[in-house]
Amino acid sequence: MQTSSHAVLAPFTSLRCGGEAELLVTTKSREDVIEILAKTPADQPLWLLGYGSNALISDEGLPGTTVVWRGGDIWQDGKQIVADSGVWWDDLVKYAIDHKLWGFELMSEIPSSVGGAVFGNIAAYGQQISDTLIWVEVFDRTSGETKRLDKDEIDFAYRESSLQTQRHLYILQAAFELSDTPLHTLTYETALRVASELGEPTATLEGLRHIIVETRRRAGSLYDPDDQNAEHTAGSFFKNPMVTTEQAMELARFDESGKTLERINQQNKVHGGSTRRASAAHVLLAAGFSRGQTWDKVRLHPEHVLKIQTLDGATAHEVHAVAQEIITTVKDKLDITITPEVRFLGKF
Ligand SMILES: Cc1cc2nc3c(=O)[nH]c(=O)nc-3n(C[C@H](O)[C@H](O)[C@H](O)COP(=O)(O)OP(=O)(O)OC[C@H]3O[C@@H](n4cnc5c(N)ncnc54)[C@H](O)[C@@H]3O)c2cc1C
Repeated sequence: MQTSSHAVLAPFTSLRCGGEAELLVTTKSREDVIEILAKTPADQPLWLLGYGSNALISDEGLPGTTVVWRGGDIWQDGKQIVADSGVWWDDLVKYAIDHKLWGFELMSEIPSSVGGAVFGNIAAYGQQISDTLIWVEVFDRTSGETKRLDKDEIDFAYRESSLQTQRHLYILQAAFELSDTPLHTLTYETALRVASELGEPTATLEGLRHIIVETRRRAGSLYDPDDQNAEHTAGSFFKNPMVTTEQAMELARFDESGKTLERINQQNKVHGGSTRRASAAHVLLAAGFSRGQTWDKVRLHPEHVLKIQTLDGATAHEVHAVAQEIITTVKDKLDITITPEVRFLGKF
């Protein structure tokens, strides 16, 4: 465990901006995290971060203690796997695949901690973490105790869990029930095209992992927190919004690949939304935003319009202002409400 005062937090986030932690603790161990949670008075702010791939930290920094937890253990009992929250999500995916267990493979290489993954109900290519979750262990700052929550005590929805509103609960471990036979079929068209190009089977765990990693690479959706040259984004900045059927038809016109509305609906479904969830990327294009559009040191990624990218020297305030401009413009022009997937931490 390492502790420092007034530590810059930008290097701990994929957007690489934001202010300082009043007190920063970095650790690999669950015991350290419990110790800090237990000794910090409940009325003092305490922020728990994993790999910072879904967080925009205020330029004013974070008051109190910020714990960055990266690392931990994985256990197995038959088809059940338990992991500490600090475990790098893809290590858990690889573990499951190595042990011939199905349920995570389509979520290969989502940049996340296990705790952050449960918190945000990560999903990709038709699989979401809540499909296989069975319980989480949390530290409750109100009672000062650890306790287990069964899956049915937590509400999950598209990119949402009720843990996001229960800020006194900190996720310590998560347990999953996997399967020795396939649970999901890959239906995502881009990935199927990659499969046929690579000549990889969609019926094996290793084949699917290879297909997904390559599909993610092409979509600019890989992120290595240790890579100094990594692009500074938080993945998709906005959630796919709910729209009326008429709005969906209108938005379909902004898909340059010439897909039918039916196909676009299917694509949205496998992304974890319902058929009335529209692609947020189409929404941004329909509202007049364009790939590569730049506001000083912040821009929309030149290839992936939904990724807000920071350039060297960008501030969190600038990112926030761009996000607000997008939200307001989309509402004014299309009467669609979009919400960020990224968590804004601290004062904005
Ligand atoms: C290139 C790229 C691609 C991405 N692709 C996808 C994708 O395909 N699918 C998808 O769903 N997401 C995707 N994301 C978003 C991101 O990977 C997820 O949101 C991820 O779960 C964030 O995990 P983290 O550990 O980095 O969380 P952080 O960014 O560290 O934290 C995010 C939030 O979770 C809270 N939190 C973290 N750990 C805990 C804990 N143990 N207990 C309580 N609260 C906690 C934090 O306080 C914060 O509010 C992508 C991001 C990037 C950069």
